[in-house]
Amino acid sequence: MKCALTTRDPEETLSLGAAIGAAARPGLVVTLEGGLGAGKTVLAKGIAKGLGVPGWKYVTSPTFALHNVYQGRLLLHHIDLYRLGRAEEIDGLGLDDLLGGSDVCVIEWPDLFWRELPADRLSVRFSWGASDERALDVESSGPLSDEVLKRTARAPNGAETAER
Ligand code: ADP
Ligand code: MG
Repeated sequence: MKCALTTRDPEETLSLGAAIGAAARPGLVVTLEGGLGAGKTVLAKGIAKGLGVPGWKYVTSPTFALHNVYQGRLLLHHIDLYRLGRAEEIDGLGLDDLLGGSDVCVIEWPDLFWRELPADRLSVRFSWGASDERALDVESSGPLSDEVLKRTARAPNGAETAER
């Protein structure tokens, strides 16, 4: 299932993330692609909000840790692989143990990690120009992510508010 959305400001991206977080199911993997400043971390923050993470406002890119964990309705792993130099460095992080479990994993800069990721995942690709508008291509690729994307689209301040 594919969905092309536009958000006009960070609040709309946050709302979309919150709708995804509210719709999330155990084992959901979300990949976030788009350059620096695209809005990936804003979306991750929204997912934390939607999962009921008490400190969702303080979700930032995990600069040094690469990986932060938050407790919400489900456990949320926020992973940012930007600083990772080579695919081999990933092996030491133990990220493969997280996948296929019952937690939610949100992964910024997943490019080096494709071979480890489940086929069933929610992929979000950002593109943008000079303004605050962001075009988001959201694609699900299996029963779990399909279900989550359907539930997201039905949320009152989820996808439908920003449908292109
Ligand atoms: P990334 O994690 O992709 O590098 P961030 O989410 O950290 O990017 O930062 C995105 C920046 O862009 C923030 O400063 C945010 O306020 C700004 N911004 C402007 N418009 C939007 C939008 N529509 N959605 C998300 N962020 C936006
Ligand atoms: Mg980021």
